[in-house]
Amino acid sequence: MNMEKNSLRYLWSYVRIFKYFFLLIIFLTLLSQICGQFYPYFLAKIYDTAAKASQDADVWERIFAYAFWALALGLGKVLLFEATMFIDVRFFPQARTIVIRDAFDYVNRHSISYFNNEMSGNISNKVSQLNNGVLEFFNFFQNIAYSSLHLFVTVLILGFINLWFLLALSVWLLLVAAIGLFMGRKRSQYSKETSTQQSIANGMIVDSLANYSEIKSFANFKFERYNLLRYLRLLRKAETREQKIRALIHLSLNLITVISMLLFMFLSILMLKFGQINTVSFIYANTLFMTIAPIVFEITWMSNNVSRTLGQLDSALSTIAVEPEIVDMSGARKLQAKKCSIVFDNVSFAYKGKDNLFNGLNLEIKPGEKVGLVGTSGAGKSTFIKLVSRYYDINEGSIKINGVDIRSFTQDSLHQNIATIPQDVCLFNRTLFDNIRYGKTGASEAEVVAAAKKASADEFIRAFPNGYQTKVGERGVVLSGGERQRIAIARAILKNAPILIFDEATSALDSRSEKHIQKSLKVLMKNKTVIAVAHRLSTLREMDRIVVFEHGRIVEQGTHLGLLRRKGRYAKLYKMQSDGFVGITDKA
Ligand code: ADP
Repeated sequence: MNMEKNSLRYLWSYVRIFKYFFLLIIFLTLLSQICGQFYPYFLAKIYDTAAKASQDADVWERIFAYAFWALALGLGKVLLFEATMFIDVRFFPQARTIVIRDAFDYVNRHSISYFNNEMSGNISNKVSQLNNGVLEFFNFFQNIAYSSLHLFVTVLILGFINLWFLLALSVWLLLVAAIGLFMGRKRSQYSKETSTQQSIANGMIVDSLANYSEIKSFANFKFERYNLLRYLRLLRKAETREQKIRALIHLSLNLITVISMLLFMFLSILMLKFGQINTVSFIYANTLFMTIAPIVFEITWMSNNVSRTLGQLDSALSTIAVEPEIVDMSGARKLQAKKCSIVFDNVSFAYKGKDNLFNGLNLEIKPGEKVGLVGTSGAGKSTFIKLVSRYYDINEGSIKINGVDIRSFTQDSLHQNIATIPQDVCLFNRTLFDNIRYGKTGASEAEVVAAAKKASADEFIRAFPNGYQTKVGERGVVLSGGERQRIAIARAILKNAPILIFDEATSALDSRSEKHIQKSLKVLMKNKTVIAVAHRLSTLREMDRIVVFEHGRIVEQGTHLGLLRRKGRYAKLYKMQSDGFVGITDKA
C-alpha cells in the first residue's frame, strides 16, 4: 500500500472507495433542492392570487391547490435531506475506521530511524489530523453538494424566468468566487503555520511527560515549562494571525451578501417597472435570490474552511506519507532457518550526515556460536547489532545470513528469526501474561507459564496478588530492571528464534537477580547463534568468542581467558573496572 503525499489525491483515494455513497447523496440532495426551490413559486402564486381575491370568486379553490403543492414540495425537501443524515450514520464511522487503519499500517512500515527522529506524540497527532481531515472533508463535500445544487437549481430557474437575471447572476458569481478564492489562499497559508506550531507544542508536551522522571530528578520543571511556553507563544502568534484573517474574510463576505441582495432587488424592481417580469416572477425571483445570496457566502466560507483542512492534511501527510527508508526488495523471500550463520562481508556504514563508523568490517559468526561484543562506549557495538536486524541499510559490502544477503529477505521474516533483548526492556501497558505472550501471540497459557519458569520469572510474578494478570504500569506494580529482563527473556524463549541478540544493561544487578538471569540466559542461548553486547563476567564467560571493538574496528578476538592472558586491549579494558566490567560478583 502506498500513501498519497498530496492532500487532494489522498482524499480522492477515499472518495473512490465510497463512490456509491457520494452518488447517492448527490442524487437525494438534488431532488431535495428541486422540491425546495419550486416551493416559493407556489407561495408567490398564493400571494398574487390572494391579492386579487376581491375580483375573483373561485379564487379560494386555486389558493388551496397552490397550498397543497407548497406543502408537498416543502415536505419532500425536508424528508429527502434528512434521508442523507441517516446514510451518514453508517458511513462516517466506517470511513474513520478505514482511514485510521490505513495510517496505522503505513506508519508501521517506517524504519526504526524514522521513529527515533519523530517524536511519538507528533506521529499520533498527525494520525488524528489525517482522520479528522478526511471526515471534515466528507462533511464539507456533503455541505458543498447541498449548497451548490441549491445554487445550480436556483440559477437555472432564475435564468428561465428572465435571461437578464442569468447574466447578472453570472457576473456576480464570478466576482464573489474570485474574492473567496483569493482570501482562502491567504487563510490556508496561515492555517498551515498554526498546525505546524500545534504539532511542535504537542510533541513537546508528550516528550516532557514521557520523561517525567528525568524532569523530577534534575528538578527541571521550570526549564521544561519555559521551553513549552516558548513554543506556546509561537503557536499563539500563528493562531492570532489566522483568526484575524478569518474575521476579515467573514466580515467581507457578509457585507457582499447584504449589498448583493439589495442590488438584486433594485434590478428586479426596474424589470417589473419596464414590464420584463410579472408580479409572481418578481416575488418568486426575490425570494429565491434571498436564499442563494447567503448560500454563495456559505460556499466561499466553506471553501475557506476546507483550505484549512487541506493545509492540515498536507502538513500531516508530509510527516506520515514519506517513503519508508527501508523497504523489502521486489521478490524478497522469507528467511526460514533452524540454525543461522551471520557474516559481515566488507561492511561500510555511516549514520546519515556522519563519517563512516564501519569501514570494510569483516566478521564471521558460525551457526550456534556465541559471540560477545566488548569495547568502550561509542565503539559501534549497538550499531553492529542494529545492522544485523537491518534497522539501517549499509553503504557497502553485505551482511549475510546462511550465505544470503539480508536485503533479499522480507524484513518481517528477518525479524521473526531474531529474538532481541534490549538494554532497556520496554513493556506494554498490558498484563504480564500478555507481555510474555508477545513472543508468540498464539501461545497457550501452559506455554507462557513454562517460558516464565525457564526465565526464573514465575516466582516473582506469582508473588503479585493478581499473578500473571497483573497489569504493568498500574500503580504500585513496578518491576525492577532485573525483573523486566526476565520478562523479556521469557518472551524471547517463547519466540524461539535461531538468532539471539542481547544488549546487556550496564547497570549492576544484585547477586540474586544476576544468578536468575544467568540461569535463564543459559536456557535461552542453547543451540542459538548469539550476539551479546556483554558487560558482566557471567555473560562473558558463556561466550565462545569475544570480539573487541574500537572506533568501529575489530581490534582483538578470542576467548575470555585467552584474551586476558594476552594482556592486550581486552585485559586493559577489564582492569580499568576494578570489579571486572560491571559490578561482577565472581572473579575470573
Ligand atoms: P556503542 O554501542 O559501542 O556504545 P554505538 O553503536 O551506540 O556504540 O555508537 C557508535 C557511534 O555511532 C557513536 O559515535 C554514536 O554517537 C553514533 N550513533 C549511534 N546511533 C546513532 C544515530 N541514530 N544517529 C547518528 N549517530 C549515531
